[in-house]
Amino acid sequence: MQTIDNFNFAGKKAFVRVDFNVPMDENFNITDDTRIRAALPTLKKILADGGSLIIASHMGRPKKNPDAKYSLKHIVAHVSEKLGVDVKFVDDCAKAAEACAALKPGEALLLENLRFYAEEEGKPRGLAEDATDEEKAAAKKAIKASQKEFAKLLASYADCYVNDAFGTAHRAHASTALIADYFDADHKMFGYLMNQEVSAIEKIMTDTARPFTAIMGGSKVSSKIEIIENLLTKVDNLIIAGGMTYTFTKALGGKIGTSICEDDKLDLALGLLEKAKANGVNMVLAVDAKIADAFSNDANTKFVNVDEIPDGWEGMDIGPKTEAIFADVIKNSKTILWNGPTGVFEFDNFTSGSRAVANAIVEATKNGAFSLVGGGDSVACVNKFGVADKVSYVSTGGGALLEAIEGLVLPGIAAIKG
Ligand code: AMP
Repeated sequence: MQTIDNFNFAGKKAFVRVDFNVPMDENFNITDDTRIRAALPTLKKILADGGSLIIASHMGRPKKNPDAKYSLKHIVAHVSEKLGVDVKFVDDCAKAAEACAALKPGEALLLENLRFYAEEEGKPRGLAEDATDEEKAAAKKAIKASQKEFAKLLASYADCYVNDAFGTAHRAHASTALIADYFDADHKMFGYLMNQEVSAIEKIMTDTARPFTAIMGGSKVSSKIEIIENLLTKVDNLIIAGGMTYTFTKALGGKIGTSICEDDKLDLALGLLEKAKANGVNMVLAVDAKIADAFSNDANTKFVNVDEIPDGWEGMDIGPKTEAIFADVIKNSKTILWNGPTGVFEFDNFTSGSRAVANAIVEATKNGAFSLVGGGDSVACVNKFGVADKVSYVSTGGGALLEAIEGLVLPGIAAIKG
């Protein structure tokens, strides 16, 4: 497999797929440029080698072409500033051949939002609501064919392809996967960010130091079933936290008051416990909870056993006994994966459990464990608690990371790795 470090970009035009889908306020000011900063090492290496950059990204979910709200023109100045060169802008990504051909070594251009073209995602657009199944199938077939043409067109702009967009690696889109078919193995590679993400996933999923502990939090068990099932074939300890705790507690016959619960998933919860037992996985459930008499930061609170929550009260976070149990398991681990808070961490009065988990992960990391935090709100947690730089790796990909943990092959990774 080609690597960005081994490739000399001198005199080469590189098509670099990045994820510049940054949040912006109503005046199109970037409110968080993490994703832009994350791609800079790759972009700078290519320029430093004497290559030229064709930078491509999506932004939001446009439904037409063009769609001013989702134009990437709003980020050109910021990208130029961060990159230290004047980035040109091409306002139609499908009509960029001339501008790309004119690029000189050390120059960069940014293509307009790839998703202005339905071909990028390969999903039909503008189908009538009452379209028949045949019409839907025909539209799907047509867009799949033109998606390949679109990928070929994008590939024709460049001499080599670099994918640094982990956030979209789980999508088989034209610019994230199909495009790679038009470059030989020596001319396609991951960028630095993708490399980091891929090696973090490998450390968790294949090259695992034991004991391996996963902490799964968040609101619902239903959104994490496939992940938990796959983790039960990999981990030594599986800590269940957050709102899904109460589905397990109720399934085991406990009283959960008005806590969040998925009544149709009680059997599933019991099945997961059985599977854990069969696989020799230590499933760690909460023993106590911080409960509240309303879903509010200012509600009255108390600590109770997790299976003795009175009517009218709901579990909002784990309690101190559970914090200690979780921390002990985490501190004795050599590989740690954290996805999802232990409670309603958005309310300051219910952050304690998530903070305790974060601190235990930091301590384990200091003692040599590999820790990966990712997939949504746990990233917000480590940022909120100021410990993002004290864990081994914070993933930039939400859905992509979760699909990787589920054990799925990510098209953006497979397209390069083969
Ligand atoms: P997820 O997107 O599934 O990772 O869920 C994250 C959300 O779960 C956060 O917004 C938390 O507030 C929420 N959450 C965690 N614990 C609880 C709980 N005990 N009750 C209700 N929501 C919770």
